[in-house]
Amino acid sequence: CGIIGVLGHHEVAPLLVEALKRLEYRGYDSAGIATVENGVLDRRRAVGKLVNLSDLLVHEPLAGKAGIGHTRWATHGAPTVGNAHPHKAGPVCVVHNGIIENFQELRRELSDAGYRFDSETDTETIALLTQSYMDGGMDAITAAKSTIGRLEGAFGLCFLFEGQGDLLIAARKGSPLAIGHGDGEMFIGSDAIALAPMTDQITYLEDGDHAIVTRAGAKIFGSDGAPVSRPIKTVHLDA
Ligand code: GLU
Repeated sequence: CGIIGVLGHHEVAPLLVEALKRLEYRGYDSAGIATVENGVLDRRRAVGKLVNLSDLLVHEPLAGKAGIGHTRWATHGAPTVGNAHPHKAGPVCVVHNGIIENFQELRRELSDAGYRFDSETDTETIALLTQSYMDGGMDAITAAKSTIGRLEGAFGLCFLFEGQGDLLIAARKGSPLAIGHGDGEMFIGSDAIALAPMTDQITYLEDGDHAIVTRAGAKIFGSDGAPVSRPIKTVHLDA
């Protein structure tokens, strides 16, 4: 339901939770964040209000300057910790808004290949498919692009990878996503309002776009896979 991604200079966990709070108005049943710290990918998830996630983070903090977060409005699978995002499969972590229509077909393909599922969500299929491509020898970017090309339905996505503290991959189809440009920092949000305290320099992805984001900036590609240029706009929202 709500997506945030940050490649920052400082610890991102508080920023991720703060940004998710700004998306609370959309409604949600659970929430979670993931970070990469010294290459290691880890996550925390909680059912219910964001205060439950904040409390969990007090007892089990999550360090790292790169991270993603999500507030979930369940469509496939009950609102449980195991179904909360981010979903993780090996070196891949992903948050997702929307519905993957062909997830059952992809799920069958992955189970036939020996992959096991930890949740009932359509979203976990995205993480596992990407992992399977990486197991087959693809790098993270190629694997994510290949996965995005196989997805049917509506999605806003943000990927984070083990061992990659300076990479986020975003994609949108039928679900909005904005990229925020900071001073050597980059942000992704399902709504620019989530990014308002961090930056007012916003690029809106168009439908079918995906973006490779590092602290140096964002490279955006259209639905045919060719590079496209999307404007950076100054968006004044109440921070
Ligand atoms: N379909 C996904 C799920 O049920 C994402 C729902 C959402 O947009 O929050 O986990």
